[in-house]
Amino acid sequence: MIDLKSKNLQELESFVTENGFPRFRAGQIFAWIHRGVRTFEEMTDLPKSMIAFLNENAQISFVQAEQKFVSALDGTVKYLYRLNDGNFVESVVMKYHHGYTVCVSSQVGCRMGCAFCQSTKGGKIRDLTPAEILDQILYAARDLNISIGNIVMMGIGEPLDNLENVLKFLEIVNHPKGICIGYRHISVSTCGLADKIRLLAQYNKPITLSISLHAPFDDLRSSMMPVNKKFNIKTLLQACDDYQKVTGRRISFEYTLVDGVNDSRACAMELVSLLKGKLCHINLIPVNKIQNGTFDPSSQKSISAFQDILIRHGLNATVRRTLGADIAASCGQLRSKRIEKEGSL
Ligand code: SAH
Repeated sequence: MIDLKSKNLQELESFVTENGFPRFRAGQIFAWIHRGVRTFEEMTDLPKSMIAFLNENAQISFVQAEQKFVSALDGTVKYLYRLNDGNFVESVVMKYHHGYTVCVSSQVGCRMGCAFCQSTKGGKIRDLTPAEILDQILYAARDLNISIGNIVMMGIGEPLDNLENVLKFLEIVNHPKGICIGYRHISVSTCGLADKIRLLAQYNKPITLSISLHAPFDDLRSSMMPVNKKFNIKTLLQACDDYQKVTGRRISFEYTLVDGVNDSRACAMELVSLLKGKLCHINLIPVNKIQNGTFDPSSQKSISAFQDILIRHGLNATVRRTLGADIAASCGQLRSKRIEKEGSL
């Protein structure tokens, strides 16, 4: 069955016209889907004959929330979703003063192998479809009765390793007849696939690019993030410069601080020399401990010292506020607990 939720408006138009229906029906179906309706019967402006055709030949897929946790500390909500094939992904809804942000997953698992990351431990199972990425937003908006202002692609998976589906998702979520979230309110986070950053630049939308940098020296970065052996820091930063030239967007760099590994003065100084003069923002994040992980978060004192060095040298650096600390809100944790319970990771 064809999943209409994964289709952009153009594809829906081809689908309806190829099957003998007028083009404008596609716009109606598209609007209904993104308003969150669950059945074709609810699309009350479609003729009965078309509803019958759709029931036989198409579907609207849904993720199901298997578990939901609400933080007593700050209201952060975390969902563990079961997909149609029984796989699990997670997403998180955070409330900021400017509105609600959803952090979505883009793959079941991940093949990037970052040493400190829970989501990559069992490798990549499969890519999410555009519909499965989108549905994490539709589900939360409906369940919490909120409108979502911002999207960050920082959940499970490497979005640029699933670029085609991610681009389709972005186009659908941005569409005026869809949820209509502006590209400026969407961040795509990557471990550093420089070739795909260049492809994203060709798409030329003002999407915020977020780079998981985590180390300023190639040997150190390669030991934490295998992707660095393919695209080293220089290549990655060159791709970021090119992205910025095309889109004019400020780049965001994520830097997860690990005690005694990447939080030294030398690392801070090297980071300064890499990023000085660039239009960018640095997010410092104390590493979250993962199961069987050997990485510990840096102390509050080292984090402040690290931040001070960056700021004194003119860089824009903030320490990320921890949200949902009581509900294991950082990604990968619920899914791996669940898989452990089912005995397959
Ligand atoms: N694959 C993409 C997006 C998913 S990870 C990427 O690498 O950017 C989202 C962010 O969480 C990344 O910056 C990632 O490096 C970071 N992260 C992963 N595990 C972490 C941990 N244990 N503690 C803190 N940050 C972590």
